Amino acid sequence: MAQIKKLLIANRGEIALRIHRACHEMGIKTVAVHSTADADAMHVRLADEAICIGPPAATDSYLNIPNIISAAEISGADAIHPGYGFLSENAKFAEIVELHNLIFVGPKPEHIRVMGDKVEAKRTAGALGLPLVPGSDGAISDVDEAKELAGRIGYPVIIKAASGGGGRGMKVCQSADQLETLIQQAGTEAKAAFGDATVYMEKYLGNPRHIEFQVFGDGNGHAIHLGERDCSLQRRHQKVVEEAPSPVITAAERDRMGGIVAKAMADMSYRGAGTIEFLWEGGEFYFIEMNTRLQVEHPVTEAITGLDLVREQIRVAEGHALTLRQEDVVFRGHAIECRINAEDPRTFMPSPGLVKQYHAPGGMHVRVDSGLYAGYRVPPYYDSMIAKLIVYGTTREGALRRLRRALEEFVIEGMKTTIPLHQALLDDPEFRQGEYTIKWLEEWLARQD
Ligand code: ADP
Repeated sequence: MAQIKKLLIANRGEIALRIHRACHEMGIKTVAVHSTADADAMHVRLADEAICIGPPAATDSYLNIPNIISAAEISGADAIHPGYGFLSENAKFAEIVELHNLIFVGPKPEHIRVMGDKVEAKRTAGALGLPLVPGSDGAISDVDEAKELAGRIGYPVIIKAASGGGGRGMKVCQSADQLETLIQQAGTEAKAAFGDATVYMEKYLGNPRHIEFQVFGDGNGHAIHLGERDCSLQRRHQKVVEEAPSPVITAAERDRMGGIVAKAMADMSYRGAGTIEFLWEGGEFYFIEMNTRLQVEHPVTEAITGLDLVREQIRVAEGHALTLRQEDVVFRGHAIECRINAEDPRTFMPSPGLVKQYHAPGGMHVRVDSGLYAGYRVPPYYDSMIAKLIVYGTTREGALRRLRRALEEFVIEGMKTTIPLHQALLDDPEFRQGEYTIKWLEEWLARQD
């Protein structure tokens, strides 16, 4: 059994801080890496050591594999946690980390690779018994075949990039006469964005919810699920609010579907944390992809299970068995997370800048994950998410009330933020009832003008 003594955090912002906190609670020293734009960031201040790995552009710093590996060697770190985004789903990076005799706090590189190619991921998921969205069996290679298939599964269909991510590069096709053009466009855009022109086709579900299961494997054939999160509140396919449990999933359905995903993970000897994403429509689940990393929204699962997912990731990376057996996992209460972005709450234009005043909400069952402090300048180079507010309540109604109270307390001055958007959402009766799908937020936003 390995014991990690010093861990390098290959990330920035709130998630770097999140990982640092778990490490310090476990007696593990931390090494922060940062770009020149992040010299004053909170994760850099709190870490035991900090090493600058390059200029602001992520390609030169947070994605700069040689510099990150050098930083690990110079600091004598024995493990690397990639967080989310950046290198977290880069199989090559995971391999390089292991080749340098460092522990990669994440899945086996081959699993990152398989799930990172969405065509391969669907094939694997199907073979493991997960229900799939009807669509092309693999990549689209021939337009006539695609037309024939689209005719069979029925329009609308969606063309997606095999290497896609972040909700980008998807094209909805309404009829046969558009199909050829959209396949070509999707391929060209996929090539430009992801360096891979491979596209595939799925039935476009009209009005589903996005429901995902948190899974954990020990890498040796044992795996559990930690229930679902409902992430249907999205804008441009980006999650805005997440909650656990989903307002529409019964305990029996959670056990049934959770059992299926946990068995799939056990069968592939998956290691570490993962998320299996489904669209849910008409009471049926349809696999869309698997994320082989920690998710932004993991705290809602932590709130209802009491488990520290980063600690669990580190323990599994050290070679320990899972802390809990499935029968020990108990779901209690309800948790909701709001992603707070430095953006105009109506136009969503980024609004980075100097934090003039900062006061985070507190009190019972309120968690704020954020690297902000008064006097900090939010750099313009990275993702605009500046804070996550997570509240817990014994009931969903209670969590909603607590969320309203916490949002009222939250003060971030010096830039526009999406706090007013979350407050307005809380006033909406449909949201309060949990009656929303992946289309709901954009329609709601359109109604606000
Ligand atoms: P990415 O990796 O880019 O996030 P996903 O496959 O996870 O791509 O899809 C992101 C979002 O796009 C989903 O949450 C959903 O809102 C929408 N979407 C994806 N596939 C479909 C589909 N077959 N039908 C309807 N909406 C879809």
